[in-house]
Amino acid sequence: MATKRQAMKRAAELGCTIDDNGFAITLDTPKGMVLGASGLHWYDLHYDSPPRAWSKPEAWAAIIEEMSMGVESCMNPECDSCNDW
Ligand SMILES: [Zn+2]
Repeated sequence: MATKRQAMKRAAELGCTIDDNGFAITLDTPKGMVLGASGLHWYDLHYDSPPRAWSKPEAWAAIIEEMSMGVESCMNPECDSCNDW
């Protein structure tokens, strides 16, 4: 069963940050990096919409899955996320 601790450990290895605000988990990549699995700079999981849609272990498993391919450099020179820094 996936736990927050496992997700946090993996995030720390990758330099990612995780925020859980009680409704959603947001996974953010380090500056200039994207998630290898999706090519995106962040991943939001609204696990409480609809209420209790996801169990916490399911949500953490999904977050860990997003990090399964690590992070890689953002290759888009016109990326809005990178140009906002
Ligand atoms: Zn970018």
